[in-house]
Amino acid sequence: MRSVYIDHSATTPVDPLVFEAMKPYYTEIFGNSSSVHSQGQKAHRALEESREKVAALIGAKTNEIIFTSGGTEADNQAIITYMHNNRNKGNHIITSAIEHHAVLHTCEFLAKQGFELTVLPVNSYGEVEPDTLREAIRPGATALVSIMHANNEIGTIEPIKELAAIAHEAGAIFHTDAVQTVGKIPVNVAELGVDLLSASAHKLYGPKGIGCLYAKKGVRIGSFIHGGGHERNLRAGTVNVPGVVGFAKAAELAQQRLCSQEAPLADLAKRLTDGIFAAIPNTRLTGHPERRLPGSVSVCFDYVEGESILLMLDNYGIMASSGSACTSGSLDPSHVLLAIGLPHETAHGSLRLTMGKDNTQEDVDYILEVLPPIIKNLRAMSPLGR
Ligand SMILES: *Cc1c(COP(=O)(O)O)cnc(C)c1O
Repeated sequence: MRSVYIDHSATTPVDPLVFEAMKPYYTEIFGNSSSVHSQGQKAHRALEESREKVAALIGAKTNEIIFTSGGTEADNQAIITYMHNNRNKGNHIITSAIEHHAVLHTCEFLAKQGFELTVLPVNSYGEVEPDTLREAIRPGATALVSIMHANNEIGTIEPIKELAAIAHEAGAIFHTDAVQTVGKIPVNVAELGVDLLSASAHKLYGPKGIGCLYAKKGVRIGSFIHGGGHERNLRAGTVNVPGVVGFAKAAELAQQRLCSQEAPLADLAKRLTDGIFAAIPNTRLTGHPERRLPGSVSVCFDYVEGESILLMLDNYGIMASSGSACTSGSLDPSHVLLAIGLPHETAHGSLRLTMGKDNTQEDVDYILEVLPPIIKNLRAMSPLGR
């Protein structure tokens, strides 16, 4: 049976070149990067060279990169420590209704602690409209605006440059969760005008458990994990040097691919989208039709359950995901799909197909062969109608 992994927004395989780059740092150059001896010095050198490569991918300076355990930790550190450290700048946080839970739940946690929170609505494409932010922001009160660069479920790319400019006009700083964009499309912190940015290695063919927070020079974030003085006192804990080396190699490879990968992925996505719409009635595209992540196809099928589609696809070796499957295993539809205005019934039938660098036209054709009969059969069995 064919095996088609088409869930790259969830995670990606480690590139063999990344794995090769990491290996020596487990067995030969295993020193603690804080140790004084030559093992430690070698690890330290690898750490700092890696920092340069990761910084280069997003146009940052090396001393603006703090390595974390991933995107989730970077989001938590950015939001929690900025708000705690800058109480003089205000008590108000603004985020959006379609954020990853790493941002949304973090903001809600702060709201329980007494910070004021505004969750901005999005339009039907999942975009935060600049005017919505303009109306919500309060000079003197709003300290932080956190809006994701691109959404992991529906692929929509947000107008970050405009949103960050609005935040700055009002005296607030701007954080973006760029976990879905770094390595997929050009991301430059200066061009976007962001002060804080989160990234994660395992979404760009790097290892799991390593990511980074970019903090622009002068932006007063603080330590989130307390302990030793690693990462310039901003992230305690023995540094995951093999992970960092893998992240850097993945960043280097992503940078080389950046110009060449977008068009083929967009072509594959178009072929897949067109094929789905031609073969399956009562289907709608979720997310923006153009301003979206390359290789991301997200759709909703009326009268079916996303979970059932996933199980049936998996029987054919196709590994995808659905917005309706929430981590708790509850049957609540995705907060993102509800935020773009889909009714519950429609949001339940969502399917997300996210392509990566190794997906081919044959993969797409195989999905187009398997998916339509699956939907047809599920609809025939559905109590919801046809
Ligand atoms: C995957 C993801 C995260 C979480 O990153 P981890 O490294 O897995 O903690 C955060 N935000 C977005 C948008 C993501 O897609």
